[in-house]
Amino acid sequence: MSIRPIYLDCYATTPVDERVLPAMLPYFTEKFGNPASISHVYGWESEAAVKQTREILAAAINATPEEIVFTSGATEANNLAIKGVAEAYFKKGQHIITVATEHSAVIDPCNYLKSLGFEITILPVQKDGLIDLTELKKALRPETILVSVMAANNEIGVLQPLAEIGEMCHEHQILFHTDAAQAIGKIPLDVQAMKIDLMSLTAHKVYGPKGIGALYVRRRNPRVQLAPQQHGGGHERGMRSGTLYTPQIVGFGKAVEIALAEQETETQRLTQLRQKLWEKLSQVEGIHLNGHPQQRLAGNLNISVEGVDGAALLLGLQPVMAVSSGSACSSANTAPSHVLTALGHSEKLAYTSVRFGIGRFNTEEEIDIVAKHAIATIQSLQNKR
Ligand SMILES: *Cc1c(COP(=O)(O)O)cnc(C)c1O
Repeated sequence: MSIRPIYLDCYATTPVDERVLPAMLPYFTEKFGNPASISHVYGWESEAAVKQTREILAAAINATPEEIVFTSGATEANNLAIKGVAEAYFKKGQHIITVATEHSAVIDPCNYLKSLGFEITILPVQKDGLIDLTELKKALRPETILVSVMAANNEIGVLQPLAEIGEMCHEHQILFHTDAAQAIGKIPLDVQAMKIDLMSLTAHKVYGPKGIGALYVRRRNPRVQLAPQQHGGGHERGMRSGTLYTPQIVGFGKAVEIALAEQETETQRLTQLRQKLWEKLSQVEGIHLNGHPQQRLAGNLNISVEGVDGAALLLGLQPVMAVSSGSACSSANTAPSHVLTALGHSEKLAYTSVRFGIGRFNTEEEIDIVAKHAIATIQSLQNKR
């Protein structure tokens, strides 16, 4: 096999940390019990493992274990939160507010609700990717039941002001949901201090396994009502039926535990690597940084390049680095990233964007190689014009 490119796509997914896998393995074979089996030890040991992850996740966001509902990932958690609230509260009101830069797993459920007759306000963002709180305030109506604003953006890494949004929502008795798929384990999260009512989580962006996530659902002040989107055996307090996937749940807990323990040092390390990469790339004429320069995830660098063809750029980078343009989830579609166009970019500049997702296993040496190759590629393409 030839040498593989340097992996710099940690906002699409991450590898399972080698400390996570061994914790999962026994739950595939000898500890295979169904956590819902209450009459024997096979069930009890699985249930104990599930409980442990519930406790880890709850502690990570300052919630209680009963407020954690396991799902197959953040896509399902977002669907459950948004459609579940819409269905449970439609008599109170039928207006939902979200943001132009949200992940499609938030935008699409909102569009679906729109097709059913709900009113959806999609807030614009400022040039730096942050929402304008006065715009949010203006958008609130008596019939608004939910505000959904992501914690950290998957393309440009921008961190939205959660505490301010939560404060505003609670003041108006509107539920606040946040998609924290990119935030858990990377930045401090506190559902009490930030007044968050629903929070979507996933394991595979923090070195846990794919196919497992969770939705935090507030139980007190207020107690959030949620219409289940999947009916069956009544698991997860009736909010999400289906046999729990114990090995993945164990991996999720272990991954979050590690990420929290290393959060501070890792944030510092990744910030240094990102700054190093940006210092080098910003020497080249026509390279722009996308998103707020400071209020962003430590390992995220997203750039647009003037005077090059987007497809040629990616092709040139490919042998050396695994990066993506636009959002990885929609790389099958050729439209420019909706996140970059929301920043006010022309379609052309939105097409020539590159997202460097630096993560736990990247080294300084790799960043040097990446910078050197990226600069050479960009300059040679610019010179061709
Ligand atoms: C990856 C991601 C999702 C989807 O999560 P899955 O667990 O893959 O379903 C949703 N929102 C954001 C912001 C993401 O980065």
